[in-house]
Amino acid sequence: MPQPSAVASTKTILVLGAGMVGTCTALHLAQRGHQVVLVDRRSPGEETSYGNAGIIQREAVEPYPFPRDIARVLRVAFKRGIDTNWHLSAMPVIGPRLARYWYNSSPARYPGHAKAYGNLVAQSISEHAPLIEAAGAGDLVRRDGYLWIYREQASMDKAMANAARIAGANGLRYQVLGPDALATAEPSLRRRLPGAIEWLDPWSVTDPGELVARYAALFVKLGGRIVSGDALTLKQASSGWSVQTDDGAVAAEHVVVALGPWADTLIRPLGYTLPLFVKRGYHRHYTGGTGPARALLDADRGLVIAPMKRGVRITTGAEFALRDAPSTPWQMDGAEAAARELVDLPTPVEAQPWRGARPCVADMVPVVGAAPKHAGLWFNFGHAHQGFTMGPASGRLLAELIDGDAPMVDPAPYSPARFGG
Ligand SMILES: Cc1cc2nc3c(=O)[nH]c(=O)nc-3n(C[C@H](O)[C@H](O)[C@H](O)COP(=O)(O)OP(=O)(O)OC[C@H]3O[C@@H](n4cnc5c(N)ncnc54)[C@H](O)[C@@H]3O)c2cc1C
Repeated sequence: MPQPSAVASTKTILVLGAGMVGTCTALHLAQRGHQVVLVDRRSPGEETSYGNAGIIQREAVEPYPFPRDIARVLRVAFKRGIDTNWHLSAMPVIGPRLARYWYNSSPARYPGHAKAYGNLVAQSISEHAPLIEAAGAGDLVRRDGYLWIYREQASMDKAMANAARIAGANGLRYQVLGPDALATAEPSLRRRLPGAIEWLDPWSVTDPGELVARYAALFVKLGGRIVSGDALTLKQASSGWSVQTDDGAVAAEHVVVALGPWADTLIRPLGYTLPLFVKRGYHRHYTGGTGPARALLDADRGLVIAPMKRGVRITTGAEFALRDAPSTPWQMDGAEAAARELVDLPTPVEAQPWRGARPCVADMVPVVGAAPKHAGLWFNFGHAHQGFTMGPASGRLLAELIDGDAPMVDPAPYSPARFGG
């Protein structure tokens, strides 16, 4: 990564939120020579970007649609699987947004949204790679792909057809592992399974929060400042924006909202009613056993088993709930039981599972670009299931837009203006 260069017009920029998305945005802006202050109430990478499965999912070029087939809808409605949970109490608030999610998942609309999503995911490895090198974070990264394992022959058959389609359309590398090849590739598996799709392009990270912290340290090395403060104190001033921090008021011409699942809390009072919601998720670590050598998706149960520094991390699927509603971790209990059928997980590390929230948008496309009603206000959030993957590409795209440079991808599908002025 090049050193910061003095640009023709150096700008002062506040970035609110030091998750993967905000930190990468700040890093790209600092690298362009701007004076950037990254504001968070916690240290970088301690929220959603800490608790995920840590996979840089180059294969995830298609976002999760809202289920449209009746069998799957009924399965979710009656909570028949551990992959999805929902809170009835949340429906008055998120129901209309989920209806738009359903609408955008129709066969006519989904392909366009998926293309926009996939265009950022396509730049994930190529954008993470220089940052990992410049941040000296290679020790956190495994470059050995991602195994999607299948318990049922019927789902394995479907997965093979799906992998061939996705790989063919997107230039992705994969191989099909039958029962013997899977047992050899992953000797920790306790059961003989029908098989797996081994995606060869993804990387995985053994401490996701630490990767963000290393990117943040690189940002400081490039001249950036990190301060502790509350983003909700943001005020528009005559010359731009200002926010209260532990270092006093910090003012800048531009401000980037990169608050992940908290973005709605800040932008709604500013007049932006975007169709945002969260899919919550849980994780827990386990030590003492012979865990898998690399990240596994238990596709038929909807959980991930990821070897990490703190132990084997089991992450759950989606919970449709209000962001701050009390935890209902039955998916975690189910995921633990399901994972134990496959691998040895003797000792839980945490007394209670960690809980986080994937920041989602009803059309499945992240919101990246200029806020239509305020000069100098920029958005970068809504990366759903793959914000850890997309952070560097999304950060670069927003930095290019702020500078008025040619963007790396067509920015129109990500524009906040798509929801109206
Ligand atoms: C269980 C689970 C597994 C996942 N697995 C993967 C995966 O394998 N790969 C992948 O790509 N993605 C994965 N994701 C999704 C990914 O974690 C998110 O998309 C991503 O972390 C979002 O990053 P962010 O920077 O937008 O948000 P965050 O990381 O949440 O950052 C937002 C920041 O805003 C700060 N903030 C909030 N409010 C304020 C305030 N008032 N003042 C100051 N600061 C504030 C927070 O402290 C936080 O640091 C997973 C998510 C979950 C829940």
